[in-house]
Amino acid sequence: MTIVYIGLGSNIGDRVGNIQRALAILKGKKPFSLLRVSSLYRTAPVGYEAQEWFANAVAEGETSLAPSALLELLQSIEKEMGRDTPFKWGPRNIDLDLLLYGNRIIHEANLTVPHPLADQRRFVMEPLAELAPEGMHPTTGTTFREILKQLGTNQFVERMENPS
Ligand code: ATP
Ligand code: CA
Ligand code: CA
Repeated sequence: MTIVYIGLGSNIGDRVGNIQRALAILKGKKPFSLLRVSSLYRTAPVGYEAQEWFANAVAEGETSLAPSALLELLQSIEKEMGRDTPFKWGPRNIDLDLLLYGNRIIHEANLTVPHPLADQRRFVMEPLAELAPEGMHPTTGTTFREILKQLGTNQFVERMENPS
């Protein structure tokens, strides 16, 4: 069994509802156990900025699935939810990224783990550091708390107090 972290994002429609639905679907999948979920965060788009705000969260799970099979599972949930992205980094109702798979470093054609941009994105590191502040980035050996601190506050990220 391996501990994994999954990044969730949505910026179309009922963003919070979309993330909750993805989590509910994930929870019912085997062999996968959903262990913990971070708070929800309201975040500014990064990469392509002319779009609406995102809701983001990170989930911690445990699985015996191989990394590629876990990615396929995440993609099947996106498909089930009718994910449609018109262009790279464009608006989407749901996005599920495999952030970390234990401390494995993976470079495959369709899968890079740790997610290559995770440590540059506050919308990932804020919820990840909430769940695992002392967790370590497998490539750099830096804790998530430290990465988050180094990112500063340029990228807007705000914890939602009462997500409905
Ligand atoms: P970004 O990866 O920068 O967050 P994105 O989530 O918008 O961008 P997608 O269009 O969802 O990108 O995915 C593009 C491809 O990324 C997928 O087809 C998948 O094969 C590949 N990919 C590589 N590494 C990962 C990973 N760790 N998690 C999810 N997808 C990955
Ligand atoms: Ca993504
Ligand atoms: Ca993705």
